[in-house]
Amino acid sequence: MIGPSPTLLQADDAGTSCAPSPLRERGQHEVFCGLTSIMWLHRKVQDAFFLIVGSRTCAHLMQSAAGVMIFAEPRFATAIIDDRDLSGLADLHDELDTIVERVLSRRPDIRMLVLVGSCPSEVLRLDLSQAARRLENRYAEQCRIIAFSGSGLETTFTEGEDQFLSALVDVCPQAAPDEAPSLLVVGALADVVEDQFARIFQALGIEDVRFIPARRSGSLPGIGTNTRVILAHPYLTETARKLERRCGPALPALYPLGEEGTTAWLRAAADAFGVDDARFDAVTAPGRARAEKAVDQYREILAGKRIFFFPDSRLEPMLARFLHREAGAEPIEIGSPFIHRQHMADELERLPDGVVLSEGQDVERQIDRCRAADPDLIVCGLGLANPFEAEGYATKWSIELVFTPIQGYEQAGDLAELFARPLRRRAALSAEV
Ligand code: SF4
Repeated sequence: MIGPSPTLLQADDAGTSCAPSPLRERGQHEVFCGLTSIMWLHRKVQDAFFLIVGSRTCAHLMQSAAGVMIFAEPRFATAIIDDRDLSGLADLHDELDTIVERVLSRRPDIRMLVLVGSCPSEVLRLDLSQAARRLENRYAEQCRIIAFSGSGLETTFTEGEDQFLSALVDVCPQAAPDEAPSLLVVGALADVVEDQFARIFQALGIEDVRFIPARRSGSLPGIGTNTRVILAHPYLTETARKLERRCGPALPALYPLGEEGTTAWLRAAADAFGVDDARFDAVTAPGRARAEKAVDQYREILAGKRIFFFPDSRLEPMLARFLHREAGAEPIEIGSPFIHRQHMADELERLPDGVVLSEGQDVERQIDRCRAADPDLIVCGLGLANPFEAEGYATKWSIELVFTPIQGYEQAGDLAELFARPLRRRAALSAEV
């Protein structure tokens, strides 16, 4: 898509100042579509099956992405929309019913079937939400059936998770108004990270903590006016909007990356549940110390390194905040497909002065800016990484940051390592030449 020239804005949509001012671009962009989120969602929800309703292109994308997980049980597949469907010779709903029947009879272990829309199903206006309701009536005793869109039309790949969670929130039961206060952690976290956070919340005395998505699809949390919501990821815009209608806005906080982000994130939850400072400090002090020590080992290689972020996952501002404040790196440009001013307010405040914050993309212009800036490390999608490597730049694939457990105190060192590794590799290659 070709859009207007970029403009440097001084104010956000609400007219209030925001720092730093974003450079907004609406040109050609290079990001994966929301189908990619199935890669981590199917590992998280262990009794779910994701049925993509899409084209052969969608199937190829999933096969390529899944290549790294060849030992995983197949818990996703693509129902191919072919020429007969496109020409109207076949009834898409009848065909979908037949495929669902086949999947569920062969896999009685499936407890949640997720119909995933794609660009072709959207262009054909196939209403998968309606199909899910119709099919759920038929299979109510066997499994839950929901739908979401993973289409690549105007989205980036992490928004697939947002759409999935938003569909899950729709089927979460209503909690009674007199139910005890509970904390709802929203966003797919690796099991190891979820377990660590659960232990910390328990030590803080926050008794009723639920995670969505949960490992088992039957564990849907009740949501009501006594539910406090904390987002684990910054890209859950639609999910947060739905939750806000049911239980109020998400707790404002940094996201749990690095020592600073994890402490602030836990602090927001602790404050909402009246945990006193002494208890909070006693519970978090060991983890804080371990995280600081782990990241310190990487300061030597990361400090002063100039980093350019292309827009991809929507994690970019928080990654830049972590690298700058805890490892001494110097972000030059922080690109993000979309920045939610409210959900990112605390993160944006902590970005260094003078950094360029860009929203959206005009990829050719951005490549020119990147080359002109000549950074030490480029964080970008797979499509840009190889050409930049060929030009002699060190690159980090941003999608790896979504697949890898990076949240929490115990993962702070691993997060720093993800950025240090390509710098070491590039230095070794340069030394060989
Ligand atoms: S959903 Fe759209 S962008 Fe994604 S693989 Fe299918 S056709 Fe391509």
